[in-house]
Amino acid sequence: MREHITLTQFIIERQRTMPAASGSFTLLLNDIVTACKRIAHLVNRGDLIGVLGSAGTQNIQGDVQKKLDIITHDIMVSALGWSGHVSGMASEEAEALIPVSGQYAKGQYLVLFDPLDGSSNIDINLTVGTIFSILRCSEGAEPELKDFLRPGREQVCAGFVLYGPSTLLVLTTGNGVDAFTLDQDIGEFILTHRNLRIPDETSEFAINMSNQRFWEAPVKRYVDECVAGSDGPRGRNFNMRWIASLVADVYRILNRGGVFLYPYDVRDSSRAGRLRLMYEANPMAFIVEQAGGLCSSGRQRIMDIEPGDIHQRVPLIFGSRNEVERIVNYYASADD
Ligand code: MN
Ligand code: MN
Repeated sequence: MREHITLTQFIIERQRTMPAASGSFTLLLNDIVTACKRIAHLVNRGDLIGVLGSAGTQNIQGDVQKKLDIITHDIMVSALGWSGHVSGMASEEAEALIPVSGQYAKGQYLVLFDPLDGSSNIDINLTVGTIFSILRCSEGAEPELKDFLRPGREQVCAGFVLYGPSTLLVLTTGNGVDAFTLDQDIGEFILTHRNLRIPDETSEFAINMSNQRFWEAPVKRYVDECVAGSDGPRGRNFNMRWIASLVADVYRILNRGGVFLYPYDVRDSSRAGRLRLMYEANPMAFIVEQAGGLCSSGRQRIMDIEPGDIHQRVPLIFGSRNEVERIVNYYASADD
């Protein structure tokens, strides 16, 4: 019979090898997982329980909010606030930082999350997810904005849950990347993918081609060369894949390689990119690097960016090492 290792077992066993780790982290992760199981249930029930469709509001980013954006945000906040392990939260769906209610103790972690990534796809039954990033903070104090605005390399854990044909949790604590599949019958995440590695080589790229005319020269060059295939300088054919759901695109690349680009474009100079640094780019960068890939803005490693705003957007290029390196080199030679 196949060995079934639950997520809790996995984390506790890993904790034993890290003298500084506390049980508090395991309990925090359990709360996140509980919230994600509730979200998985709602996403799965969909129209049967009336949770699909627009809420008729906009978030701070100017995105139209879906009903599930708001519901999943509330689920995350209520699942994390009470336990005493968290001292503050930040969410894509809330302009301000989310304090922990005064009746609860403040713990040693900050949690930043995108409660429902890819939510524009929810009404057409495509894969969506929940992304989270965990930072350490000083226990007991009311966290300030500066405690959140730390570069991605300081994350202690990052993960996402994918609500697809299966519900999957992808997780890193800085020791490789592992994935767990939710066993709906027993309600537990079971380790199914140990130490995911992104192949260095790939022949797949993912980009929103409709923005082509707004790209900078290095990205134009890279994509032109891929599209030219065996007739061009790369001497081989490439395939394009674009799900437009970050969690789903990341998961594909974790499993079979590829490169994803949501680059800087010249449409709106006040907007550096599309994806958000603190709860999209940073957690994905941590996961991608831990799986042997690279993650860059084109000009800088994502996890070295010093954040200036909790909702800051960044250009995002990640995936198979050799392709990301090539794109970064194209930027460097264009900027010389
Ligand atoms: Mn998102
Ligand atoms: Mn979202």
